[in-house]
Amino acid sequence: NKVSKSILVTGGAGFIGSHLVRHFVKKYPDYKIYNLDSLTYAGNLENLKDIEELSNYEFIKADITDETMIAELFHKYQFDKVIHLAAESHVDRSISNPLAFVKTNIIGTLNLLNAFKSIWKDNFEGKLFYHVSTDEVYGSLGETGLFKETTSYSPNSPYSASKAGSDHFVRAYGETYGIPYVVSNCSNNYGPFQFPEKLIPLMINNIIEQKELPVYGDGKYTRDWLYVEDHVEAIDLIFHKARKGETYNIGGLNEWKNIEVISLLCEILDDKLDREKGSSEKLIYFIKDRPGHDRRYAIDSTKIAKELGWKPSINFREGLIKTIEWYLKNPEWIQNVVKGSYIEYYKKQYS
Ligand code: NAD
Repeated sequence: NKVSKSILVTGGAGFIGSHLVRHFVKKYPDYKIYNLDSLTYAGNLENLKDIEELSNYEFIKADITDETMIAELFHKYQFDKVIHLAAESHVDRSISNPLAFVKTNIIGTLNLLNAFKSIWKDNFEGKLFYHVSTDEVYGSLGETGLFKETTSYSPNSPYSASKAGSDHFVRAYGETYGIPYVVSNCSNNYGPFQFPEKLIPLMINNIIEQKELPVYGDGKYTRDWLYVEDHVEAIDLIFHKARKGETYNIGGLNEWKNIEVISLLCEILDDKLDREKGSSEKLIYFIKDRPGHDRRYAIDSTKIAKELGWKPSINFREGLIKTIEWYLKNPEWIQNVVKGSYIEYYKKQYS
């Protein structure tokens, strides 16, 4: 088996990317892992403090929308394999600024594809372009049913439209230019190091601080939650074993309504912080719904289970407890990331 020594991970300073980089750097000392990230508000090198000195890890500060820079970096480092996670990732922000999502998620992906294609040309032996994507590209489900790899795309938000566009380009580059690629579409992740604009860390932070808990619409939006390390395990398996030119859905078979998730977080935290039972739930209040809000997502992950033997290993309660314990132990991480522009964003979003 030919082992690739030069692996580019994009977006490795973000939430999922930092877990993935740590996992690869520690598990595969023979691989050289290059973490390319422009360090937007969502990127934070603090997430990787524990591995930054390791010799098989290197950080490259660069923006994937910069075509020339990306081409130069591919030329210089000759990356054999790419795991592409860099993206604008927050649906609410995509509603107020869709263009930023087109630039990073679509044009940025194209720049990577072009650079990859131009260094390896027609000899793609042992090479791979792995694109990490979301189940949101499939749109919304009714009360029943699951997203399969064959479900047609029907994105409803500028975020999911931009991710859908990037998925299509990766596939098209495979068909048109013969690039060896694989795509995975995963459900909602949670865990340590997630930026507190996302539902679970937002609520954990507000419950700890006893701030109000804003819930969109009727709170009955349903998501399939997966612990971030289970996603990383799936990416590892796909990276090493998947058939080229395939798509894999990844999900936890773990559907929860938003309001149920929030109640569970209140219950666990009230218990941990010795607060009166039910006291945090009183902080819940409902706000105007988000436009284009998908009602339900749920994933059928039979294909990755059957072909690659993957299944989630951490149940929801256990995963939430691990996550909560991490946020309780790392208050300075939260303090640092919510400084400055996030405070303005929060006020605008939830006032
Ligand atoms: P994140 O927002 O935490 O991290 C994104 C990272 O990309 C950040 O470090 C940011 O600095 C970097 N980045 C953004 N724009 C860039 C640019 N122009 N050039 C270079 N770097 C740039 O996101 P995440 O939640 O870790 O998601 C990572 C990937 O996984 C995304 O592609 C996302 O669509 C996908 N995904 C996320 C989830 C989820 O629940 N979080 C689920 C399925 C798929």
